[in-house]
Amino acid sequence: MKIALFSAKSYDREYFDKINKHHNITYFEAGLNKDTASLTQGFEGVCVFVNDNLDKETIEKIAANGIQVIALRCAGFNNVDMAAAHNRNIKVVRVPAYSPEAVAEHAAALILTLNRKTHKAYNRVRESNFSLEKLTGFNLHRKTVGVIGTGIIGRAFCHIMLGFGCRIIAYDMYESDELKSRGATYTSLDELFKQADIISLHCPLTPETKHIINEHTFGKMKDGVMLINTGRGALINTKDAIKALKDQKLGYLGIDVYEQETNIFFRDLSEEIMQDEVFARLMTFPNVLVTAHQAFFTGEALEQISTVTLQNLTDFENGRLLVNEVNA
Ligand code: NAD
Repeated sequence: MKIALFSAKSYDREYFDKINKHHNITYFEAGLNKDTASLTQGFEGVCVFVNDNLDKETIEKIAANGIQVIALRCAGFNNVDMAAAHNRNIKVVRVPAYSPEAVAEHAAALILTLNRKTHKAYNRVRESNFSLEKLTGFNLHRKTVGVIGTGIIGRAFCHIMLGFGCRIIAYDMYESDELKSRGATYTSLDELFKQADIISLHCPLTPETKHIINEHTFGKMKDGVMLINTGRGALINTKDAIKALKDQKLGYLGIDVYEQETNIFFRDLSEEIMQDEVFARLMTFPNVLVTAHQAFFTGEALEQISTVTLQNLTDFENGRLLVNEVNA
């Protein structure tokens, strides 16, 4: 198939070129949105990532250009207007699970870095500053970790934190018997907010979960709570998080995703003036750690993403059952 792959980075080319045998892929550095949709002329499918914006207008335009399939090279599909795709008979496929451990391990890395301040220690020691002043952390052992969303990533994260000797309390509409058998308990969201020392978000972004963390829910949390988000940026109302940081309600914030990340992440802006005031304010807090949507970013995950995406496209081309289809 002739595929237009958007938001292409060097690592996308590397892994897709390594594994691709059947498809004719053109790589576009630009993201796919209503303004770049014209680039899809002459292609049969598009391959997109988390910050490509496939809203109704974009879908109308790519449908008019003959696009029949949208292959997401990620798990989340909140950036696709599914109703619009369905109406234009465009199939949407995704990579439901590429390396849940990659994301779960990154969440653990955010926790350890924020807690034990290894990022600060690294810089200090490089400058021959061997003082331990203000590097005090806390033991993870016996702390209560609240996990919102216990799908494949949430469960992998629970396994890691159980290994640290943490107590796991979880909230999900579907309870995992396997997690319960390992000692995790399910609780209400309110109880999770009340009891957790660390809260980690692993649910998808939906109308129900948008701003699930907000001024009101911060009010229910322990003082000095640590909040980790490797899910989607808009799970947290960032302005409310800034207020909670200023009030010292929120003791630590570790995020790999940010509400307005589309205009910031996945590019080098080191010589630009930061225009996003909210993000700029976040950067002033010593107890905030931001990574630029890299939780998935391991060699194993990239290999799996390209393998499954290419298989999804081959299945579509051959009229086979689309095991990874996203339904409206
Ligand atoms: P999954 O579908 O296996 O699990 C999601 C879980 O969330 C399910 O158990 C579901 O029941 C639960 N859930 C849904 N709505 C909920 C709600 N309102 N409250 C509590 N739980 C709810 O998905 P996954 O593979 O574990 O991925 C989780 C999310 O992680 C994805 O949706 C994606 O947004 C994000 N993600 C981020 C990265 C990254 O690099 N940062 C990479 C992959 C996925």
